[in-house]
Amino acid sequence: MSGVDWEDDDPFEEQRDRVENPMKRLFREYGRPYTFHATVGVVASVFARLLDLLPPLMLGIAIDAVFRRDAAFSEQIPLVLLPDAWLPMTQTAQFWFVIAAIAGAFLLGAGFHWIRNWGFNAFAQHIQHDVRSDTYDRMQRLNMEFFSDKQTGEMMSILSNDVNRLERFLNDGMNSLFRLSVMVAGIGGLLFWINPQLALVALLPVPIIAGFTYLFIRTIQPKYAAVRSTVGKLNSRLENNLGGIQVIKSSNTEGYESDRVDDVSMDYFDANWDAIGTRIKFFPALRTLAGIGFVITFVIGGLWVFQPTPPGPFTGDLSVGMFVVFILYTQRFIWPMAQFGQIINMYQRARASSARIFGLMDEPSKLERDPNATELVVGEGAVVYDDVTFGYDDESIIEGIDFAVDGGETLALVGPTGAGKSTVLKLLLRMYDVDEGSIRIDGQGVSEVTLPSLRRSIGYVGQSSYLFYGTVRENIAYGTFDATDAEIREAARAAEADEFIENLPDGYETMVGERGVKLSGGQRQRITIARAVLKDPDILVLDEATSDVDTETEMLIQRSLDRLTTDRTTFAIAHRLSTIRDADTILVLEDGKIVERGTHGELLENGGLYAHLWGVQAGEIDELPQEFIERAQERTARVPDEAETDD
Ligand code: ADP
Repeated sequence: MSGVDWEDDDPFEEQRDRVENPMKRLFREYGRPYTFHATVGVVASVFARLLDLLPPLMLGIAIDAVFRRDAAFSEQIPLVLLPDAWLPMTQTAQFWFVIAAIAGAFLLGAGFHWIRNWGFNAFAQHIQHDVRSDTYDRMQRLNMEFFSDKQTGEMMSILSNDVNRLERFLNDGMNSLFRLSVMVAGIGGLLFWINPQLALVALLPVPIIAGFTYLFIRTIQPKYAAVRSTVGKLNSRLENNLGGIQVIKSSNTEGYESDRVDDVSMDYFDANWDAIGTRIKFFPALRTLAGIGFVITFVIGGLWVFQPTPPGPFTGDLSVGMFVVFILYTQRFIWPMAQFGQIINMYQRARASSARIFGLMDEPSKLERDPNATELVVGEGAVVYDDVTFGYDDESIIEGIDFAVDGGETLALVGPTGAGKSTVLKLLLRMYDVDEGSIRIDGQGVSEVTLPSLRRSIGYVGQSSYLFYGTVRENIAYGTFDATDAEIREAARAAEADEFIENLPDGYETMVGERGVKLSGGQRQRITIARAVLKDPDILVLDEATSDVDTETEMLIQRSLDRLTTDRTTFAIAHRLSTIRDADTILVLEDGKIVERGTHGELLENGGLYAHLWGVQAGEIDELPQEFIERAQERTARVPDEAETDD
């Protein structure tokens, strides 16, 4: 089927394909609690549309029975359904009866339209809200690999675009669908009741118009996809150029860039013009089709009314009033019919969107859930890595990692970028499961204990300290929501943050994070450390916690960290070796393997990679020996290669 070509290059394609009957599932899982709203919407919609049909019919009755007096009032459709005693006898009373019916239909109709809108909107909004909340909840529990850059855009798109598309169908689509059904069934039924022969003629354009609008949607859909794609390219080009304006100016390439923008803008123009060309033909063509039907009905009906015998093969009578009813009604379903293609299109999109949503929800967690998992109980805080091997994909990143840290000790990981240091620690937090070997905390395997208890026991301070939009207080208490003001202040003091926080415009109540007061890297870092102090975890992970700051701030942070790490099992990754020289054990990683281990003193004596890195950083030697430089060159040469295949 057409209409889904915007999903090219979709990393969630596989998930989408796995989901069966997504719309059925949507109604079953999310629609059921709101059956009342939907029922109210549907019933009110039927009444509202039927009332819409009353005024033209009453006009026909007035012409035949009230003004011309050539038909009995009580025998008019639908008045035959009412007992004669209810109907007025005099001409004036009948006139007012008709007026009252028309006015009543408008008034009641307005009421039903209001209820119908309430029902459908409530149904759509509730489902949209529930689906969004559930999807978000599922999403944040997914494995870490889902959050690589490539896919966060996709997730945003599922949470916003796809969820919104559902709403469009549930509201506009279903509304139009019922309007169309009631119009076609209601008008069709009435026309057949009044005069089945002329009804056949008048309804002839309906299937033709339906087929025509469907064809139109199929033709225009790929053209709209092309418009979206070119506008995307245009936006990226503009964004890119604005970001790089300094380079453009300094390289004197304004003319070149103007040409490039001109080119993509022209592509956008062409794509748009192509779509416009098709679109502007649709409504005139539709009018022509409807017009032909109208003229045919008019000719046959007209001849029937004023000639003594019915035209052609037709038989029976047709009154002027009912002829007018035919003319007014045939005008009415042209526009709902024009939406037929739109409804199908909206349905297809909603179907594809719910498939993507359910695909995401059904994504199994790769972390194996052990039904017998117990709460982690940390006593001493001893950590053992037993021959651990792991790779993000098939290729292994770390191999045979083997070490033991006693409770309260500090273990430092050093080595070149990409050696696998962060990966080693992500496994402790169980962001991923090890491929081989095991990791144990006080004898309990990290995969045998519950995730919340594991993560509660480990505090993490990373290199990019992310602050949520909120107050400083909220950011420190994040995750330890029951902390008192005194405890929060105490933690900030331990993190050397109290002083600068007091100097902020609103102290602890200052809004920070995105859209809030801009803090320096060092200040953000100290708030993150205060958060870790407040959490008071058994085990602490510091992933280059001081890499982002100047030397002075580093000293402050180091002081607060020293306080935090005393008597706590600590893992620290550091580029600046001075910050970890006091660690109980230092592991040197290269290419995912431990190449050296020992204390600072022992490693210096060894005279290996560590000793040379130390020498360079301490300014004792000018340059690394040739063999290390060659190895580094090999490594850095490999990176772009990997990055390319990654994309
Ligand atoms: P380090 O902390 O020593 O700089 P990392 O543990 O971050 O090293 O990375 C080790 C290797 O694993 C690198 O080659 C990196 O490209 C790769 N890597 C890191 N994270 C991911 C990921 N989420 N998916 C795939 N590969 C990854």
